Amino acid sequence: MTRPDFPMHVTVPQARAHLAALLPTLGHETVPLAQAAGRTLAADLPALVSHPSATESALDGIAAREADTLLARPEAPVRLRMVGESRAGVPFAGSVGPGECVRIYTGAPLPPGTDAICPVEQLTEDGADHVALRRPARPGDVRAEGGDFRAGDVVLRAGTPLTPARLALAAALGHAEVPVRRRLRVALLSTGDEVVLPGQPLRPGQVYDSNSVGLRALLAECGCEVMPLGHAPDSPAALAATLEQAGGADLLLSSGGVSMGRYDFLRDLLLERGQVSFWKVRMRPGGPALLGRWNGLPVFGLPGNPVSSLVVFEVIVRPVLTGQAPHPLRLRAATPFAALPDKTAFWRAVLRDGAAHDYGAQGSGILRSLSEAQALVVVPEGQAVAAGDEVEVLLL
Ligand code: AMP
Ligand code: MG
Repeated sequence: MTRPDFPMHVTVPQARAHLAALLPTLGHETVPLAQAAGRTLAADLPALVSHPSATESALDGIAAREADTLLARPEAPVRLRMVGESRAGVPFAGSVGPGECVRIYTGAPLPPGTDAICPVEQLTEDGADHVALRRPARPGDVRAEGGDFRAGDVVLRAGTPLTPARLALAAALGHAEVPVRRRLRVALLSTGDEVVLPGQPLRPGQVYDSNSVGLRALLAECGCEVMPLGHAPDSPAALAATLEQAGGADLLLSSGGVSMGRYDFLRDLLLERGQVSFWKVRMRPGGPALLGRWNGLPVFGLPGNPVSSLVVFEVIVRPVLTGQAPHPLRLRAATPFAALPDKTAFWRAVLRDGAAHDYGAQGSGILRSLSEAQALVVVPEGQAVAAGDEVEVLLL
């Protein structure tokens, strides 16, 4: 090969930046909360109401004036007249005077005139309309109006992924529908003459297409709309014909056919009908990853080895698709982890007793490791990890 006119052996952050630069800016749409799980918020979301909407009781008991109850002791209870009840959704209609109280339940508004709560455990019923308090009512046992958020506060920011907790929060803020980014449309392709759909008989030398099954689920997790393109055999014409079917996609994600082999055609197709943004990333597993454009369509070529394709997805593709930088944990290494001179290593690890243990079989074809390892230990170029060292760990 003559000297290539595209970047080779890029670093992981460079690979992410190249991918981000090829993706389109996504438009917005408004969807009901029930359809917004996993989507990305497209605009700041203000609170339309305050929560709590009124100062309310944090306990079941009675609401009273604190001053009336200050002398209450077990041996000298204070007696108050019960003038009504305030329960969640049905506030007490009147106002409470000196020497009076109302029965109150968790989440019920504090009636006008009261400022403190005495819990039911500290009360004794005294006739039909009196209670005796064995200790003073406390002003602290309330939830102040707006103590969670106030109308007008911007509580959720544009760019935030809508997790179940944030969707619940959006509902509490008063929104029935939310502005979200359009989903990225990702065409998904497997390559290789030996790759066979699960469910078909397997002849010697063939392998089931596990990559597109795992990648499809990962793309769904990232909130993408997946266009399955199936499988292309190892011929430039067949591969080009399959790429033609990706019309309307924002990105094509393929696996296999990006290495140095005679049957690895994707790079040449990009060079003929587009551009190569980079080939090869300074990482292991996953070194041969490829990025470019084909007739304008961004194409990310993952290596075919199942472990490599998953690790490249986690380390490079996921952070770009979700807009969320990886959040490595710092954990103790229970075993040594080797360094590579010119690559960042992402070794599969098992987490046990709060420490990272080398999974053992680190070959890129060991599919079992993907289900048995819980994390990737990140070992920077040339910086070997000894047992007992702290390491950065990405959860799988
Ligand atoms: P390649 O990158 O095309 O040279 O493939 C590297 C290795 O990954 C070979 O052993 C392939 O058989 C295997 N492989 C490629 N594509 C897939 C796939 N979709 N599912 C499972 N294994 C695959
Ligand atoms: Mg192949």
